[in-house]
Amino acid sequence: MIKLSNVSKSFQTKKGTIQAIDDVSLEVKKGEIFGVIGYSGAGKSTLIRCVNLLEAPTFGSVVIKDKEVTNLPAEELLQVRRKIGMIFQGFHLLKTANVYDNIAIPLRLTEVDKEELDKRVTKYLKIVGLEDKHDAYPGQLSGGQKQRVAIARALAQEPEILLSDEATSALDPETTESILELLLKINKELGITIMLITHEMNVIQKICDRVAVMENGKVIEQGRTVDIYARA
Ligand code: ADP
Ligand code: ADP
Repeated sequence: MIKLSNVSKSFQTKKGTIQAIDDVSLEVKKGEIFGVIGYSGAGKSTLIRCVNLLEAPTFGSVVIKDKEVTNLPAEELLQVRRKIGMIFQGFHLLKTANVYDNIAIPLRLTEVDKEELDKRVTKYLKIVGLEDKHDAYPGQLSGGQKQRVAIARALAQEPEILLSDEATSALDPETTESILELLLKINKELGITIMLITHEMNVIQKICDRVAVMENGKVIEQGRTVDIYARA
């Protein structure tokens, strides 16, 4: 589903060149939950931004669903990006829009008609367990509920891949647990492939089939979670 081959990304700064990712190769298979773990500064965000096509690698190849996406023209890039949903540590909800609109606004930028849009908002709010919160504003929701809205917003685009950038890092342990269970359900029941980045080992142990460990821009270890860490 996602294949990175010899991907490197460097940034030029006043202090010189920063090698954020250094020769990373990994493959995320269709239907699995793949985790990337590492300390702050390891290069996880930069890596996931290369998958989300927000960042272009300096070297190497990124293949998504059998399509090489480095150097794609803008129009085709947009097509591939539609297959990818993303959630973040900070939720990224619009404070001045209610839950319904937070999910609907990005859909209005696509070809989805009003009827289908309504259907999707209702369907995905139900899947995340917030069907009674259509009219609430983000400020009235807990952190876990905000993340559920963000997940519904990502799912409403009906992506094949869901990327998660530290989605549970701002949440308490019980809320983290419930969001991880939701991600498992999305993976199993909707068949969505998930790639997540985290600095928390328990996130990997609870839901990831396979894991890559990053340090200083490099993947230092990669394999099945059960082989790398004992299950929690
Ligand atoms: P992580 O997500 O694991 O914390 P990042 O990918 O955010 O790691 O960062 C990896 C390294 O690349 C860090 O040293 C960071 O400061 C640097 N970096 C990330 N983005 C940029 C950028 N846009 N410009 C310069 N340096 C960057
Ligand atoms: P996250 O919360 O996902 O880890 P960061 O706070 O690391 O994100 O980065 C947010 C933005 O800042 C990203 O666009 C990243 O590329 C950029 N960035 C990160 N580190 C640096 C840096 N040292 N210099 C410049 N930009 C950076």
